[in-house]
Amino acid sequence: MRYSEMFLPTGREVPSDAEVISQQLMIRAGMIRKLTSGIYSYLPLGYRVIRKLEQIIREEMNKAGAQEVHMPMVQPTELWQESGRWEHYGKELLRFRDRHDHEYCLGPTHEEVITSLVRNDIKTYRQLPRNLYQIQTKFRDEVRPRFGVMRCREFGMKDAYSFDVDEEGAEKSYEKMFIAYNNIFRRCGLKFRPVEADSGSIGGKYSHEFMVMAESGEDAMVFCEKCSYAANLEKAEVACPERKEIYEDDWLSLEEVNTPNVRTIEEVSEFLNVKPQDIVKTLIFNADGQQYAVLIRGDHEVNEIKVKNYIGANEVELASDEIIVKATGAPRGFAGPVNIKIPVLVDYSVIDMINFVTGANKEDHHFKNVNIGRDFQIQAFADFRVVTKQDNCPRCGTDIKFARGIEVGHVFKLGTKYSKAMKAGFLDKDGQEKIMIMGCYGIGIGRTVAAGIEQNHDENGIIWPMPLAPYQVIITPVNVNEEDVMESAENLYKSMLAGNIEVIFDDRDERAGVKFKDADLIGIPLRVVVGRKNLAQGKVELKIRKTGENKLYPLQEIVQQVKQIIDQELQYSE
Ligand code: ATP
Ligand code: MG
Repeated sequence: MRYSEMFLPTGREVPSDAEVISQQLMIRAGMIRKLTSGIYSYLPLGYRVIRKLEQIIREEMNKAGAQEVHMPMVQPTELWQESGRWEHYGKELLRFRDRHDHEYCLGPTHEEVITSLVRNDIKTYRQLPRNLYQIQTKFRDEVRPRFGVMRCREFGMKDAYSFDVDEEGAEKSYEKMFIAYNNIFRRCGLKFRPVEADSGSIGGKYSHEFMVMAESGEDAMVFCEKCSYAANLEKAEVACPERKEIYEDDWLSLEEVNTPNVRTIEEVSEFLNVKPQDIVKTLIFNADGQQYAVLIRGDHEVNEIKVKNYIGANEVELASDEIIVKATGAPRGFAGPVNIKIPVLVDYSVIDMINFVTGANKEDHHFKNVNIGRDFQIQAFADFRVVTKQDNCPRCGTDIKFARGIEVGHVFKLGTKYSKAMKAGFLDKDGQEKIMIMGCYGIGIGRTVAAGIEQNHDENGIIWPMPLAPYQVIITPVNVNEEDVMESAENLYKSMLAGNIEVIFDDRDERAGVKFKDADLIGIPLRVVVGRKNLAQGKVELKIRKTGENKLYPLQEIVQQVKQIIDQELQYSE
């Protein structure tokens, strides 16, 4: 394409409302434009990258035996009522009515639609297994859209759904997708890691997220370099410590102390002159309307997702001041397990503690020398806390590492959550009615592109990995007013087009410096500079964006040379 004819509005200014580098660069490189909060248009350059990614995804999905479909974005409320998610999905689901007063939503995901589709047309085990996918627009009314297309409201997603006759089949389908995802992100030229993850509102028992490694990522993960354990911080397990013997003879007598206006761990620690490790925090949670006390050592933090999963609740949140008073008889800051009337869940960090400090369920009072079994009973010991750098790998016991990443893909084993609720059954070999076992698999299209930029850029702009590059080469004639230069550049452009090389011809009448800046900003992997001086020797200059490497090649060899580099870089991607 000739640059002079392109719709490629680049900019030098860093947009003031762009929080992360990928967002700044996508705007500056003329890839995206914001329409309104969390809603973006892709310009030609941005859309070419999207299409490249989609192509890689399609190839790998098809290779894995999945088939492409296209489902509507507008979904009727009835389906969501059937699955039970109409009530639970919350405010991210954009709901509206048509002129006949029928209620609908914009699909944030498509489990309901696909299940209704499949249940009507798949009746026997002979038609299974099947894996159907689409690349389609989703809408999620995110509370705080941010980071450009990384967390927006309207976005493209590749979503796939597998249907199997039994657990074993479902396991295989999951495995195939796991491999396909590894292939997809490897082919994109990204550094990534699959991690164990929580299933969130999609439901299901088991899932992995694919994280593109980036310091700016919203997600924290832990991983072990010795064994293959890797997990989202939300999910990362803490192993149950080996239990030490507890001698009741060591128990001191329970003592109530007056602690006026002393509420936080820090305040209690200072006031009673004890270490935070000798205090037990009691947090009151509200889980679907029922209260629980969760106990944890003073220097640790509770992981709400673990609490939610342990209880099996739909929604878990820290209780309001009003509910705390109801549950404990005291205002916030004085809750404790002694004489409390709600179930007490205890984190492993408390397992070996004796004679600890807790709230006394009485305003301005704490207890000293509290002991489990003597002073209160517990419902369970379990893992309720956030992993820390001091923890070890829950599988092999060696050190764990922390890193940050961007979740670009997510694979779930759904089991029968949707197929049961929505009656997606089939007749098995023995003529028995059975329920299909499902899996679902998503990749954020725009987010993957943005993550690619977070990982591949420098102070001058984007550095596209060849497989995602909107164009592979840019030809830059130094001075468009020199006829000989333009003629050579023009011929070069035509030969590259004829060789199926994706090329921009920067034929603009601009200073060379301006053109170089734009080429760097938009991140084209290879730049061929045609200038009078080199041309006199029959040569042109090839610059590699990634390494900054600069070399002269004879004009006759340059197309071949460029082709070789492209093939080499794409080969890895096959
Ligand atoms: P997150 O925790 O980041 O909100 P999620 O767990 O809600 O993501 P899924 O429901 O698993 O996401 O969706 C599949 C994929 O869609 C995600 O891995 C991500 O790449 C992409 N995605 C999800 N929400 C957004 C969004 N608001 N903007 C852009 N992409 C998104
Ligand atoms: Mg989300």
